[in-house]
Amino acid sequence: FMQGLERLRNQPAITRDGFTVSLLTNTGLLADATPGLLRGAEGVGLYRSEIPFMIHENFPTEQEQYTLYRKVLQAYAPRPVNMRTLDIGGDKQLPYFDISETNPYLGWRGIRFSLDNAQLLISQVRAMLRADIEHGNLRLLVPMISRIDEIQSFRRYVEKAVDALNREGHEVRMPAIGMMIEVPSAMLLLPRLTPYIDFVSIGSNDLTQYLLAVDRNNPRVSGLFDHLHPAVLVALEQIHRQCEALGLPVSLCGEMASDPAAVLLLVAMGYRCLSLSAYNIPRIKLLIRSINRETLLSLLEQTRQCNSETEVRALLAPVLAEAG
Ligand code: PEP
Ligand code: MG
Repeated sequence: FMQGLERLRNQPAITRDGFTVSLLTNTGLLADATPGLLRGAEGVGLYRSEIPFMIHENFPTEQEQYTLYRKVLQAYAPRPVNMRTLDIGGDKQLPYFDISETNPYLGWRGIRFSLDNAQLLISQVRAMLRADIEHGNLRLLVPMISRIDEIQSFRRYVEKAVDALNREGHEVRMPAIGMMIEVPSAMLLLPRLTPYIDFVSIGSNDLTQYLLAVDRNNPRVSGLFDHLHPAVLVALEQIHRQCEALGLPVSLCGEMASDPAAVLLLVAMGYRCLSLSAYNIPRIKLLIRSINRETLLSLLEQTRQCNSETEVRALLAPVLAEAG
């Protein structure tokens, strides 16, 4: 098994007809570096910074965060690490800071929480920038953007932190800034958000939830949660087309990137960068290496006529069976 992993680790995720996909990993714990590197992750597509906050007993200090982030950046250097600022709220709660709301998924989440707790945001950004000094492989990612002024404010905070740190004698650089697309309004405003960002990453879990108005943790409706719902596929095609036109690098980092059926369609749409849990990288890489993108294009065309995720999955099943 280890030998098989070893061999696959150094092989690219490339289709039979030469379409290359970068496979990065999702993580949030330092202990995750070994599985990711062992499985050939080309970097960290999504570092969920709320996870260390969740297992802590209080808000970690700037220095504590610095120590942790530095280890993560170091473990993956020179590969890129996309560190996402705190995405607390929704289903992600801190044991030492109560956010009880009747509608938590529509509430105080992600960037909203960070902008309302500016000192926390500043200390987190400062810790990340300082941790980046040695290897320069940090990229910043912001969760739950739903408004233009949010990304403008975030960018200003980062620029100010860079200036302040440089004045203090740390030689930090301005990292690339990326935005998660997980709220429909961010998708619809993409061309107007572009001046403030260097790249985007699609959070397909939340994007599916907000497009379909389905909470997948609610057993009464969780059966309606599916990232192959025709509306989600329309959205993903639109985002990819727009990013291409805008010259904006795009990746996808939700659970969808671990679903073989979904990967067939994402590759057909033209997605070249996926981030997924380390454990799923080998099988998704094997899948990509076994397919022909050219034949997937007609399949994508057929799924555009489907009226439900069940029809989409039925179309994809024979192709998956053939790919093994
Ligand atoms: C997502 O929403 O798809 C995502 C990757 O973010 P999280 O799962 O951490 O909310
Ligand atoms: Mg999300």
